[in-house]
Amino acid sequence: MSRIWNFSAGPAVLPAEVLEQVGDELLDWHGAGCGVMEMSHRGKAFTSIIEAAEADLRELLGIPGNYRVLFLQGGATQQFAQIPMNLLPAGRSADYLVTGSWSKKAVKEAQRVAGPASARVAGSTEAVGFTRFLDDGEIAVDANAAYLHLCTNETIHGVEIDCSRLPKTGMPIVADMSSHILSRPVDVSKYALIYAGAQKNVGPSGVTLVIVREDLVGRAPATIPTVMDYAVMAENGSMLNTPPTFAIYVAGLVFKWLKRQGGLVEMERINRHKAELLYACIDESEGFYRNPVRVADRSRMNVPFTLADPALDAAFLAEAQAAGLASLKGHKSVGGMRASIYNAMPTDGVRALVAFMDDFRKRKA
Ligand SMILES: *Cc1c(COP(=O)(O)O)cnc(C)c1O
Repeated sequence: MSRIWNFSAGPAVLPAEVLEQVGDELLDWHGAGCGVMEMSHRGKAFTSIIEAAEADLRELLGIPGNYRVLFLQGGATQQFAQIPMNLLPAGRSADYLVTGSWSKKAVKEAQRVAGPASARVAGSTEAVGFTRFLDDGEIAVDANAAYLHLCTNETIHGVEIDCSRLPKTGMPIVADMSSHILSRPVDVSKYALIYAGAQKNVGPSGVTLVIVREDLVGRAPATIPTVMDYAVMAENGSMLNTPPTFAIYVAGLVFKWLKRQGGLVEMERINRHKAELLYACIDESEGFYRNPVRVADRSRMNVPFTLADPALDAAFLAEAQAAGLASLKGHKSVGGMRASIYNAMPTDGVRALVAFMDDFRKRKA
């Protein structure tokens, strides 16, 4: 068997160690006589799996006791709607920062759910092509807004910020962390709600993490569908109905793998190093490769880049594929290439990509 170096933006690479364990346990989980996919979500075995997953996630992120952890379905896209359904009372509005395709989708969906005037753009970098985060003077919040929503890592445009750079507004901050959660330590207490679809940096698609401060749970109107109500999900341990059991199980194994790597401080060290290798290759290519994002805002997880001569794009992708470097084609909205280098991408994979890029440039420049 030979595995590719998988630079997919998502669903994305998972740690080989975790996949091997999943394979070993597929037919018989710990002597249960069946696999996790086949067991009741209400039984003892699965209860132990979801409880361990929550405990390990709490430990990794240092989640304070006054936050609830939910394992939901519907992806981050469902949260675009579910957040205003739960946190935006009638007659109020919420503020949104638009710094890339995902936060732009989030505000559009909130407007659809709560009405066009209920979700307000409090700052946008669309005019500069989403090539940086907003500066302080560019954010104009409404002090009465129910919350401020932002995306801390724009997966398509490769723009990332951490909690030290959050706008200081005093209002509840809601963050889409789908593509960089668990890649670095986070001060959870700075956020009212954090959410993330699993298939970038956590596990298989199908489960969405929601980490929400207790006092924000239970504010939904009575007309909200039961399955969308954070309070009902929290009361029922994310098991009002059948949860995505297999995805939760694999995510739980990834949490244990992260703990074995040394937790998020160590993951940040590794991720920073990987990103430095790749950005150095781009920046030192004398313009052959180019990343358009302001240096301070560059993502460590998603690295979009273009070739100076787009006529070489097809050859780049074909030769990369032949060298075992897969899924490097950029998102159609930005073109060029994108290398997603999540937690599960080993440093050796980034080294292989950099060696290929250097060699390709020398041959084609
Ligand atoms: C992928 C992604 C989404 C959408 O996730 P789904 O699980 O497909 O709904 C939302 N936000 C960000 C930042 C993403 O990377």
